[in-house]
Amino acid sequence: MPRSANKPRSSSSRSSGAETKKWAIPAAAAAGVLALGGAAGVDAYYNNGKAVDTYQTVVRNGGVLTPPEKAAAAPQTTPTDIPVILLDPGHGGTTDKSRVDPVTNLGDRYNPNGPEQIEDWAVAVRAQAKLKALGYVVHLSKESANQGMFLRERVDKAEAVGADLAVSIHTDHGQPFSWGRIFEQRVGGCRGSEPKVCFTNENTAALSQTYAVAMQKSRTAAEGRPVEITVNSFDGRAPIEPGDIPMVQLFSDIPWVYHEIGANDGLNEAEQEMYATGLVNGIVAALPIRAPVAAG
Ligand SMILES: [Zn+2]
Repeated sequence: MPRSANKPRSSSSRSSGAETKKWAIPAAAAAGVLALGGAAGVDAYYNNGKAVDTYQTVVRNGGVLTPPEKAAAAPQTTPTDIPVILLDPGHGGTTDKSRVDPVTNLGDRYNPNGPEQIEDWAVAVRAQAKLKALGYVVHLSKESANQGMFLRERVDKAEAVGADLAVSIHTDHGQPFSWGRIFEQRVGGCRGSEPKVCFTNENTAALSQTYAVAMQKSRTAAEGRPVEITVNSFDGRAPIEPGDIPMVQLFSDIPWVYHEIGANDGLNEAEQEMYATGLVNGIVAALPIRAPVAAG
């Protein structure tokens, strides 16, 4: 058995077809994705062997590559699962700025961000509609663009609905559209000084990083220019807690991928559509619906 593990990757991945034949995405869903994405190679997401080959060509920051086999083997998904997705449009109305998170004692401060929260909401609604059409169970973290909501409450919502993946959606009005970023959960990512709280869940981090790579690829295709997986800094932005991981990701044991896109001229409808399409195609690649193939 150890011998077969040492076989060249190409031969083992190409011989995996027998395993994947039992399961396939419903034809309607696959057609829907192709129509939505329009990007060459989207259909490859449905072939585990091809997807693996594709992802292995992606070099992530830090040089750590988590192959998608980990996602496929994750306990969250079984062959008959319909993944549950939480979309988290950023910001909202004013919340209590003195709020301290009861779990971590970090300041759970989250500012409204006028034009951004409207765009975040619009992209989330577009993505939700596309995912629901494909058969996914999709929840939004809040109920309207301007609803104020603490970060802890967003994590509570993700847990309450049993999300397999949560996706935060943001725009950055200080950057041009050519700028796209993704943040992932990393062991050792921290926030705060007293207390300083760090992310420690290795399994969640591995899934978050795998899903981030899938979404990096799909967003790059949909938006037409590179999207970077990188580490954000919250230092020097008091009263926001200093550190280097978004707080929703720090708080969550659910795999959580956090997205930014440049929108210094505002995010117009065509750009909202590109952003939503990239997010959806990444989710489909990361967590495909697996259903038994009908006989015949
Ligand atoms: Zn934001």
